Amino acid sequence: MSVLYEIIEKYAEENGICDFGVCGAERFDYIRDDIEKNADILKGFVEQDIEKRINPDITLEGAKSIISIAVKYNCDMNFKKDNKIRGYISMGAVGEDYHIYMAKLLKGLAEKLSESLSFRYAYFSDTGPLCDRAVALKCKIGYKGKNGCVVSKNGGSTVFLGYIITDIDLSCFPDFLLEREFSDFSCEKCGLCVRSCPSGALNEAGFKIEKCVSYITQLKRRLSYEEMKLIGINIYGCDMCQKVCAKNTEPVRQIIDINEAMPEIEHILGLTNRQFKEKYGKTAMGWRGAAVIKRNAVCALLKYDEEYAFNMICGALKSESALVRQTAAMAVALKKQDKGIDVLKEAEKNEKDNETVSVIHESLSFLRREIKWATGTQEA
Ligand code: SF4
Ligand code: SF4
Repeated sequence: MSVLYEIIEKYAEENGICDFGVCGAERFDYIRDDIEKNADILKGFVEQDIEKRINPDITLEGAKSIISIAVKYNCDMNFKKDNKIRGYISMGAVGEDYHIYMAKLLKGLAEKLSESLSFRYAYFSDTGPLCDRAVALKCKIGYKGKNGCVVSKNGGSTVFLGYIITDIDLSCFPDFLLEREFSDFSCEKCGLCVRSCPSGALNEAGFKIEKCVSYITQLKRRLSYEEMKLIGINIYGCDMCQKVCAKNTEPVRQIIDINEAMPEIEHILGLTNRQFKEKYGKTAMGWRGAAVIKRNAVCALLKYDEEYAFNMICGALKSESALVRQTAAMAVALKKQDKGIDVLKEAEKNEKDNETVSVIHESLSFLRREIKWATGTQEA
């Protein structure tokens, strides 16, 4: 058995890596069509140079093999819900940013291997040029589930992925690792994730990323009315298709403080940029910045009928961020309340930013149409 395999196996055991595998660093030409199809949708999320996405040699000249690892993050939300107005943060984004954590793990593994032989390497988790999922699938650490995620053998669907591109030939790895198949481990007869998906992004025919709540909460732009309604109370991520996955194993940690996973929306909206950075800058949602998360928080308020939720939306019309003010104007319209007319008129009068004035104006027209349609009366 390869000495390198033993080193990786030991390192994995000691560091909570639930699955690992290796593959050759040949080009990933077979995912080019998918990459091209989703190029516009994924702009800003992934490497834009398609050649870099499919050719490991561009990232590491002389690349021969890739090591892929998976680390479980399944959490038990062990807290009681209360009646407060809260938004939901994906369990993968609660606590230390997994990009940092995974980078440490990958670096540690590469350094451990370097003690036995000299080699060049480059490691990434989510932010690298290659597609983490394509690498993981090629390394056979799992199969592609109906939820679009890699379902790993020991960690199920809730795993963080990372990879190391190396210039060493790892085809000497044990056959059971290189040749494993998943015929006895599949989504067959399940479909729980498809049935649980709140937005219809998942269906038996595949995955429509543009409808995925997790994707929508990470967009930087102003959302459409439809997108605002789709995201529900999620202020970052979604998790539904992961939480229900029948292949998930025992949770690896507990979240006992409700404020970690479900902060009060008033708290989120009240944060200054500096406070947001201090509190969330080192989590996986920090990279999107305060304005995007506050925009989502305003959308989440649509799910609450309380007068207080409406008042918070109105308060967001005075936000420092134009994105938040625009979203608040649209949310006032979506609430379809008569009093929203005066609120929007006042906001339009006080607004200085031209684009926001135009959004408030459109929201006012939208609200007037909705009220007229609902009551059959003349426009307010
Ligand atoms: S993250 Fe949510 S919206 Fe996206 S596919 Fe999964 S269940 Fe559907
Ligand atoms: S929930 Fe079921 S169908 Fe969906 S990925 Fe998990 S095992 Fe597959």
